[in-house]
Amino acid sequence: MKQLSLEDLKKQSIRYIKGVGESRLSLFKRLNINNFFDLLTYYPKAYEDRSIIKNIADLQDGELCSFEGTIVSNVNVTRPRRGMTISKVSVQDSTGKITAIWFNQHYIKNSLTVGANYIFYGKVERKFNKLQISNPVFEKIDNTQSHNNGLKKSLKILPVYPSTKDLSQNLIRTIMQEALKSFNNIELEDIIPKEIREKYNLADIMFSLNEIHFPKTELDKDMARYRLVFEELFLLQLGLLSYKNIATAERQGIKYTKSYEMEEFIKSLPFELTNAQKRVFKEVEQDMESNNIMNRLVQGDVGSGKTIIAVLALFKAVKCGYQGALMVPTEILAEQHYNSVKPLLEKFDIKVELLSGNQSKKQKQVVFEGLKNGTINVVIGTHALIEDTVEFLNLGLVITDEQHRFGVRQRSILTEKGRNPDVLVMTATPIPRTLALILYGDLDISIIDELPPGRKPIKTYSVNESMRERINNFIRETVQAGQQVYIVCPLVEESEEIEAKSAVVTAEDISKNVFKDLKVGIIHGKMKSNEKESIMRSFKDGEISILVSTTIIEVGVNVPNATLMVIENAERFGLAQLHQLRGRVGRGGTQSYCILFNQSNSKVSKERMKIMAQSNDGFVISEKDLEIRGPGEFFGTKQHGLPELKIANLYKDLEILKLAQEGAKEIAIKDPGLIKNKKLKQYLAQHFGEKATLS
Ligand code: ADP
Ligand code: MG
Repeated sequence: MKQLSLEDLKKQSIRYIKGVGESRLSLFKRLNINNFFDLLTYYPKAYEDRSIIKNIADLQDGELCSFEGTIVSNVNVTRPRRGMTISKVSVQDSTGKITAIWFNQHYIKNSLTVGANYIFYGKVERKFNKLQISNPVFEKIDNTQSHNNGLKKSLKILPVYPSTKDLSQNLIRTIMQEALKSFNNIELEDIIPKEIREKYNLADIMFSLNEIHFPKTELDKDMARYRLVFEELFLLQLGLLSYKNIATAERQGIKYTKSYEMEEFIKSLPFELTNAQKRVFKEVEQDMESNNIMNRLVQGDVGSGKTIIAVLALFKAVKCGYQGALMVPTEILAEQHYNSVKPLLEKFDIKVELLSGNQSKKQKQVVFEGLKNGTINVVIGTHALIEDTVEFLNLGLVITDEQHRFGVRQRSILTEKGRNPDVLVMTATPIPRTLALILYGDLDISIIDELPPGRKPIKTYSVNESMRERINNFIRETVQAGQQVYIVCPLVEESEEIEAKSAVVTAEDISKNVFKDLKVGIIHGKMKSNEKESIMRSFKDGEISILVSTTIIEVGVNVPNATLMVIENAERFGLAQLHQLRGRVGRGGTQSYCILFNQSNSKVSKERMKIMAQSNDGFVISEKDLEIRGPGEFFGTKQHGLPELKIANLYKDLEILKLAQEGAKEIAIKDPGLIKNKKLKQYLAQHFGEKATLS
């Protein structure tokens, strides 16, 4: 028989596991569990450790735990009202006494014998200074058995699975056990090469799956987890190596020289650099002047002034005879950068051009030629930059702005258009060190931790519908004071399924009713590029006072005269996203405001709005966001175009990540064509594209 690997189990439906019928099948489906692979990798989010037995005297209020005791009273069954029974019994050990209570389980008395010893497990409460435990599970201790092998349920470490909707924990446990049982006589093929398993002390795959779900001991569980996390990160790393072409890591980069015009250029800027900007640019400069390839992430909160760092680096690259490219995720942002950067650089004879998807073929053709023959020094553009038709004469610097919006692959395609160009990536979203390592390899990080002078923190308020009129008045006052307003809606058009405000309807409504006399504009993702562009220009030029928008203005947009943002259905947005959106105001010296219309009464929603109102700090906000949402969703690797991580925790598993990276590099060097590792080759082809190799 052909050996199966974990990957192959994706082809095996869970339909034929004992206990899974049609109806349960659909319940599992709702958890995205369709096949054996999905099931076995539906890892516990926590464990109930019933194996530690406490003295009754040491039990704490609210604690989930096990204790051992003798039944010292008859089971007392009462019926306080129709349809309800309460069974009570006293349990004692040498240190104290506790009352065990069961609701509506009158049959319990048949399973308890006075004078016998039991182990109980459940949640302990202390009421009026008396201990009690409600609905505990229990098991009789046969005194002839030793504790470790005689007991079945009570004394184990049991898995607790994430949100199980209509499936009970017990049911999932049972099905999981059945599924694991079916491998009793089958040996799974290990996708991790033997030499790596041995070198890094990785447990066997079947052992790991068994122990991660039903650990015999804490240690077994840790070994299992180590192996599974290693595997996940190892495979991810191999995939990334296949994109990156590891040989480049060994090659030398461009050694830029000092440019005497730099000082003059900095003096020509419309503002003085902040200390943080000066420090960060110095770090960039040092990288550029060294032999090695620059690989630097510039992280700075919204409005901290990252763009100018890019401009300085571009200036340096061009003055040393190279071309530079700045890639951004949206057309609006490309236009905006083009319009602000071009005048700065042109004064110093640097030719800047724009390349974006909405230009005519002819326009693009001109840019293509200029890049190829070197007459264009700097290009600013969208994904259009990574098309095959774009060639450079000598691309020496690649910058991506709002990096979190790009996949890893896109950056590497752009990089390959030059010969070992230096790389700078910029983002406002703080990412954990682990993810940075995964995404950027040996990346250096610079942080702009200071806002330009004169900025006043944005005042943020969470409101409900009852405040509508007051907010409308506030909008009007803002416009009358000569400032501008964004109104952000979660939807483009009205939808039957989702009850939320749409930009189209909102814009129509306010321009016909409340703000008839004011200039209202609308912008959203379904509009044509040139329409978007002309709207953005009118807004920037002050011809539009109120801009109704979807989240397409979320990244990068810079109109310092806009001082008020009203966000409709704010409950529908993530905190990090709200922070990005809010960052569109407060970009000048005028006090700015952000109004969050929260249409939800849920506690979580209110909590989230409170965080927004209290903090203007992107780091704090993303930390809180993480607390509320959990790491999986927050720093979803998916958003970076990588496979989802099911077990690795990017906050905790830095050490394992380093080992897995090391292991992946070893394989890439020893067996670049993966001739000896067919399973790995197959895996990479399936997950990272047919052409993925390590050579
Ligand atoms: P972000 O970090 O969000 O990309 P930007 O680069 O768009 O921020 O800068 C935000 C605003 O601050 C822009 O209007 C920019 O001109 C201005 N700015 C940047 N640096 C400074 C500075 N040192 N002094 C004054 N204004 C600055
Ligand atoms: Mg920016």
